[in-house]
Amino acid sequence: MKKTLYLKFMLAYFIFGVFCFIAVTVFVPNMTRERLIKEKAEALYSEATLISNTYASGLYTSETDLETVKTQLDALAVYLNSTIRIINPSGRLVLETQKPLNVEEVVIIDNFDPTAMGGSYYMVNTFFDTYSSNVLTVLAPITSNYMVKGYVAIHCDLGTIEASCNGLLRISYITLAIIMMLSVIILIFFTEIVYVPLRKITFATEQYAQGNMHYEFQVDSDDEIGYLAACLNYMAKQIAGTEDDQKKFVANVSHDFRSPLTSIRGFLEAMLDGTIPPEKHEHYLNIVLNETERLTKLTNGLLTLNNLNTKGMMLNRTDFNINDVIRATAASFEATCRSKTIAISLVLTGEEMYVNADLEKIQQVLYNLIDNAIKFSHHDSVIRVETSLKKNKLFISVKDTGIGIPKEDQKFIWDRFYKSDSSRGKDKKGTGLGLSIVKEIINCHNEHINVVSTEGVGSEFIFSLPLSKKSSEED
Ligand code: ADP
Repeated sequence: MKKTLYLKFMLAYFIFGVFCFIAVTVFVPNMTRERLIKEKAEALYSEATLISNTYASGLYTSETDLETVKTQLDALAVYLNSTIRIINPSGRLVLETQKPLNVEEVVIIDNFDPTAMGGSYYMVNTFFDTYSSNVLTVLAPITSNYMVKGYVAIHCDLGTIEASCNGLLRISYITLAIIMMLSVIILIFFTEIVYVPLRKITFATEQYAQGNMHYEFQVDSDDEIGYLAACLNYMAKQIAGTEDDQKKFVANVSHDFRSPLTSIRGFLEAMLDGTIPPEKHEHYLNIVLNETERLTKLTNGLLTLNNLNTKGMMLNRTDFNINDVIRATAASFEATCRSKTIAISLVLTGEEMYVNADLEKIQQVLYNLIDNAIKFSHHDSVIRVETSLKKNKLFISVKDTGIGIPKEDQKFIWDRFYKSDSSRGKDKKGTGLGLSIVKEIINCHNEHINVVSTEGVGSEFIFSLPLSKKSSEED
């Protein structure tokens, strides 16, 4: 493809050149010659009619003698660079300039026929074989008393017309040469502006097709080709990024699956080979059970994330009372809260507050946030779940007074598998998927979630939800 485009353009250029050459060497000379002959004929014809109305008619009315007319016409013929003849209708030559006047000698032009001109006022031929080569002839009748007494013929050698024609053609050839040179400039421009960038783009796409997504190239132009190159670069970067993310994701998944599996395997082998005595089996089996729970949680989390990604925006939106959902979710943590002597305080706006969202997914968001708040809270503390209204939106905050999140970790907590170092010791069951699921769900709703946290003081997660039409009208 690379070579042929250039070849095609070269071929087009060549064909263009050939056509220009044919036009200039064939059509233009013919048209120019015809034009010049016509112009010359027009000029001579007006001279001929002038002669027929003045000197020549005087000749037939015997106002002027032949000698005087001949002298005048001789001078005019020199001026016109032509030969002037006066011919009788019968074809007898009355006088011819540049030839001495001889009344005795009778010269007859054989086959003289003024109608041979057809409708035209000029002709290009040997004029009834009186010339050896073609001449331009105009013929004007001399009339007196409505009778044709004779004809004034002016003959002009075609050589002078050819000379001026060649002069004009030379200009056409020079113009053609200039046009061809200018089109070479267009060819160079095409190469620089279209062909070279196109080659770069083609080479880049070949690289991408071979999987080299990190290949970078530059096309410095702000036109469509530059834009195409920029888009292609951007696309490659995105794909490369996704590939890297996928690799990281698989590495994380493998790592997170491998550690519980290793410990399960270790404990079971130790039990089987007797390293762990039977009386301690129950203790270790509980640890194994915890690890399997963690694996189940991890698998469920991955499945949820996968569903969110593949289903994208497919939310099952309904209008529901968020206050009921918050109360029910908080209640599901009763046992955990009791064991840690943690209280959940609910500060809810209104008795009922209808939002428009996917109930199940919002329940999951609340569950994950409250679960984290409990996990990272100290014993005997209070977790506050609060709702507030602002501009047709309901803001829900889950606030704890736990360990908090270090500032440098805050931007990573939404990443899959991210667990801060400080939390690892306290939360062995954590998968690092909870907050990425939360973020994904809120994004699917086209809403936002933020965190405000201070290490050692506590964290607050706030997200927004759209009010249902019913609630916004009441508002
Ligand atoms: P995990 O399953 O480990 O809780 P998450 O995605 O829910 O995964 O959380 C990611 C990390 O964010 C946690 O490991 C923890 O370091 C931090 N984090 C989340 N919520 C809180 C919180 N309420 N207080 C302190 N740290 C938190």
